[in-house]
Amino acid sequence: MRGRPKLEDSRDKQYRVRLNGEEDKMLSYASEVTGKQKSDIFRQALVDYYNKVKINEYVPEDEDYEWEMDHLSLKRIIECPYCGAGNPMDFADECDSWSEERQMGSEITYNFDWEECECNSCGKNFRVHGYICEYPVGAYNYEDIKVEPNE
Ligand SMILES: [Zn+2]
Repeated sequence: MRGRPKLEDSRDKQYRVRLNGEEDKMLSYASEVTGKQKSDIFRQALVDYYNKVKINEYVPEDEDYEWEMDHLSLKRIIECPYCGAGNPMDFADECDSWSEERQMGSEITYNFDWEECECNSCGKNFRVHGYICEYPVGAYNYEDIKVEPNE
């Protein structure tokens, strides 16, 4: 056997993806912390998203079904506006949600307003409010989370 075996499905499709500054920072951070290539992070995120979409297509909206759909995690690390320390928060603990029917089931928006959060590092008080949206069920759609100092 000589040379490389021919790949059955070689990576010859190319996409150009535009990122804004914040998205680029997220990609660099995820790459540095995990030691993974940026392109692998895109591919792996795609597989994760694909599987969630597929589950939504195949799992019936039937309460007797043996599976319960997993919802999107509302856990986030929120940076303190005073000292920058990361504060773990799970907005599922206190939020309002509403849903709209779309092509593939529900789009759910979780809205929260935590007025008095205490930083676990400097002890100062701040407010965290905004929303996280999932569509299809279990998959990230978009979010907007604002952090404001109270003092
Ligand atoms: Zn702090």
